[in-house]
Amino acid sequence: MSERIFIGVAWPYADGPLHLGHIAGAYLPPDIFARYHRLKGNEVLMVSGSDQHGTPITIKAEREGKKPGQIASQYHQQFLDSWQKLGISFDLFTSTGTANHAEVARHIFLTLLDKGYIYKATISQAFCSHCQRFLSDRYIEGTCPYCHSSGARGDQCDDCGKPINPAELIDPRCRLCGSTPQFRDSEHFFLKLSAFRDRLLDWVKQQTHWRQNVLNFTVSYLERGFEGQGYYPRYRLGNTCAHSWC
Ligand SMILES: [Zn+2]
Ligand SMILES: [Zn+2]
Repeated sequence: MSERIFIGVAWPYADGPLHLGHIAGAYLPPDIFARYHRLKGNEVLMVSGSDQHGTPITIKAEREGKKPGQIASQYHQQFLDSWQKLGISFDLFTSTGTANHAEVARHIFLTLLDKGYIYKATISQAFCSHCQRFLSDRYIEGTCPYCHSSGARGDQCDDCGKPINPAELIDPRCRLCGSTPQFRDSEHFFLKLSAFRDRLLDWVKQQTHWRQNVLNFTVSYLERGFEGQGYYPRYRLGNTCAHSWC
C-alpha cells in the first residue's frame, strides 16, 4: 500500500547564493529520499522556501545600500534557478514573504500569546550609540572568549563552533560602524518553552529512528531545562548547527 511521505527541508536564508555545502548538506539528501519514495510509488510532498526575514538579510541589504526585500527576492529567484539547473525536485518551494505565511505566523503567535505561552521580559542588549540602534547578535563581532579567534560573532564563533552570548565577546564591535557597543535593557517576547518540556521529553524518548548522538543531545538538553542558557536556546549539536550550512 502506498505511503504518504512529507519531507520538510530546511529553509535557506535569502541572503546570498547557494554553495556546495548547502547542496551537499541540506538539499541533495532529501532529493534522493524523495526520488526513492516516488519510485516506490509513495505519495511524496517535499516542501521548503526562502527565509526572507532573517537578520543576515538586513545586514547584507545595509552593506549594499538596498532594501531587505530586494535582496530577498534577488536570491529567492537565484534559488529557483539553482533547483531547476540541479534537478532538485521540490513539490513546492515558496517563501516566508507570502500572505499565507504571514497569516499562519500571526495565528500561531496570537494563539500562543493568548494561552500565556509567550511572555515579555527585559534582557541586556548591545546598543550602538553611533548607529543609534540596538544590535542583534549577528550585528556584533569581536574576539572569541574560548579560542581567541578575532572574527567571532555575537551568536557564535565559526572557528571553535561554540555558541556565544554577545556580552561574553572580548572587544565587541558594531558590525556596521566598528564602534564599541554599550549594553542596555531592552524588552522582548519569549516563548515559554519550559511549559512544553515534559511533553517534548516524552515524545523524544519514544523516537526509535533518530541517530543516537542526536537523541542523547536532545534528551540531555531537555533534562537540563532552559534556564541560564543564554538569551535563547541554541540549536546546536556539537559543532554542527541544525542549519547544516551555517
Ligand atoms: Zn572560538
Ligand atoms: Zn554602529
